[in-house]
Amino acid sequence: MTSQSRSLQRTEAQERRALLSVTSYDIRLDLASEEETFGSVTTVRFTSHGGPTFVDLKPVRVKAVTLDGRRVDPALLDRGRLPLDTEDGEHELVVDAVMPFRNDGEGLHRSVDPADGRHYVYGMSFMDAAPSIFACFDQPDLKAPYTFHVRAPHDWVVLGNAPATNPEPGVWELATTPPLSTYFVTLVAGPYHLLRDEHDGIPLGLSARASLAADLDKDADELFTMTRQCFDEFHRLFGIRYPFGDYHQAFVPEFNAGAMENPGCVTLRDQLVFTSRVTRGARVLRATTVAHEMAHQWFGNIVTPQWWDDLWLNESFAEYMGNRVTADVTQYDDAWVHQAWARRQWGLVADQRPSTHPVAGNGAVDAVAALQDFDGISYAKGSSVLKQLNARLGDRVFFDGVIDHLDRHRFDNATMQDLFSSWEKAGAPDLGSFTTGWLRTAGPDTVALDRPAATLRRTSPPEHPADRAHVLRVARADKGTWRTTEVRIEGPETPFDAGDHPVIIDPYEDSWGVFPPDRLTVGALKTLLPSIADGALLAGVWNAVRSALHTAAIDPADVMDLVEARLPVEDTELTARHTLPWVLSTVVPLAGGDALARVHAAALRRLETSPAGSEIQLAALRTAVASGSDPQRLETWLAGSLPEGIEPDLDLRWRVLVRLAALGATDAATLDAALADEPTTVSRVEHTRARASLPTAEAKEYAWSRFTGEVDVPNYELEAAGLGMWRAGQEQLTAPYVARYFDDLPGTVAVRAGWVLAQAGDAFFPEGALDEDTLARTEALLSRADLDLSLRRRLSDRADQLRRMLAVRAAYPRS
Ligand SMILES: [Zn+2]
Repeated sequence: MTSQSRSLQRTEAQERRALLSVTSYDIRLDLASEEETFGSVTTVRFTSHGGPTFVDLKPVRVKAVTLDGRRVDPALLDRGRLPLDTEDGEHELVVDAVMPFRNDGEGLHRSVDPADGRHYVYGMSFMDAAPSIFACFDQPDLKAPYTFHVRAPHDWVVLGNAPATNPEPGVWELATTPPLSTYFVTLVAGPYHLLRDEHDGIPLGLSARASLAADLDKDADELFTMTRQCFDEFHRLFGIRYPFGDYHQAFVPEFNAGAMENPGCVTLRDQLVFTSRVTRGARVLRATTVAHEMAHQWFGNIVTPQWWDDLWLNESFAEYMGNRVTADVTQYDDAWVHQAWARRQWGLVADQRPSTHPVAGNGAVDAVAALQDFDGISYAKGSSVLKQLNARLGDRVFFDGVIDHLDRHRFDNATMQDLFSSWEKAGAPDLGSFTTGWLRTAGPDTVALDRPAATLRRTSPPEHPADRAHVLRVARADKGTWRTTEVRIEGPETPFDAGDHPVIIDPYEDSWGVFPPDRLTVGALKTLLPSIADGALLAGVWNAVRSALHTAAIDPADVMDLVEARLPVEDTELTARHTLPWVLSTVVPLAGGDALARVHAAALRRLETSPAGSEIQLAALRTAVASGSDPQRLETWLAGSLPEGIEPDLDLRWRVLVRLAALGATDAATLDAALADEPTTVSRVEHTRARASLPTAEAKEYAWSRFTGEVDVPNYELEAAGLGMWRAGQEQLTAPYVARYFDDLPGTVAVRAGWVLAQAGDAFFPEGALDEDTLARTEALLSRADLDLSLRRRLSDRADQLRRMLAVRAAYPRS
């Protein structure tokens, strides 16, 4: 797929909405005939006030189009739009087209499971991909009921937004849905393994690829239980029943996001069906994802934002409600601590970039612009602001307003103003200054302790001036015991006498901001850190330290001392946003010298002192693998000689192989053999990562051919190739690719679009080349007016990160 379509402008959406209302969609899909394409016949009934408009359509080819029985020339199709001339009254549009199966996680994604060769399909209409499945008026505020008829291979099951029946082999009829926006219409089809249950009159389902059947079965009880618990809590809080019939959760392959809230048929990335041992962090993440998507059934699906500038009404609410409900009613009562590790910095860093935007009213002019705002601000900051608003209003007023809003705009669309007028009706005080400071103004405050002056100093970013009040707790250590005090910060200076006690500001995330620890605190933490037992406080300490390094307010040498004092393996899941990857990607290069060896030694110490079978032990081993430089030790682990309490599994095997590859201590043939030995989707992705990590010219060319699109691979493999490409110690090999990156990046719009375009641009960025030259090249490319918007956003964030890391180097030169 290439970006041969235009993104819908907000003004165009407003005009079309004023002209049309859609009565229904009837869609016939033939998934059984071809492997590259599928047949799609859409009948749209709509009413027009009369005038020119267009239908969105991104086909391989169009067979025939009729409007009210009269032929429309398909040759008029131009960059995803087919113009229509409508008269006043009711119309019937029939579009018979051939559509592409895609491999980039959008439209109808088709993938082949390497474990058994079986094919799987799922739909992802978000955010403007629906027209590559069926012809439609693709904007969130033209809702209509859908009826699907699907022909599929006989051994497939078909699921969608409404319950499906299977009257004869290969034929599936789906019931008519309530009114839906185009962006959450989906279909899941393939030889999926299916589990069913029921709760409170709601039929429940879980599905995953057949090769994951045993792993899904193992966790089905946990998943069904939390789904039931969350339904009960959402029903209690909203008093509005889930209205979309069945609630199916489909774990699907090569999914770009964590999950998508399609009414009645949520799709989740199938890495959330665990095939190897995972830590609690991974389970909490899955639980909050499940709850987040359930929250969307109310926030997003019953009432949908009129336009993408209000996407915070979807994401900030789903994030806040998902965390809250998970913590309150499921076994994962530490969900807020997990989010402090996993999400806080994602939001804070985004909020400090030049690309920051307000939580509400991001001003998205079109869908592509809005996609850039699915970031840490719309999720983590938005959730934090809603948590504050809830604390301010109290549950009664907060939910009375929300319920009024959901009732008033049921199966329709609404705006931020609508919600705020519902809150006013519910008795909320004047929210003007709260809204201005927290929702309408970008950027975080910094609150820092001026110890000699016994003052907390609050500053807002000069480019985003604000006057925000904070109500937060401050933790103060007294002979190893931490006590908290509530502090109200209502001006630039707030008296606070810390004496000579170490102090952490806002460890419990009552507010939102940058709260760097002062020098005395940093010094004391080197002794205090090992004995902190409170998980929330510990996460708060690391957030404070991370914020400080991000703003060059702490010496990386001090951060390394803290890392050694207590390697943050409590942060148990290794994803790009968490603390351990930050240690490896940011602290180690900035601290320089033997930093990596010190991380490795600290990991080995944690490994020795952790109880056998504990999660800390597993996390310590993973860190030891990622930081290891001794091939022999890694080979021993690969051979299965592991600390007591840890069993060898596929995940661990590939972690070791990837590290060995980066060290040049294995070769392509060995990696190919490991893939052939257990050819799962996990293996295929990790094999790509490992191949790209090898210190050979052939390996770098292997990765690069994927970036340029010369070799076409699915989304996960593409990203893995990029992340494997740049390895410390391979600078001589990768040096030529720094220039090639900036030469080749703009051209990638010809081979991919949407989510993967930006993701690949980011994954292949020359991360290891931390110098002025890379920054200059990044800035030069950013100055080009024709650079794609989503690539521009990623590059601009990369430039900011580079500037900040160079600023730390300049502030704390290494001797
Ligand atoms: Zn969401």
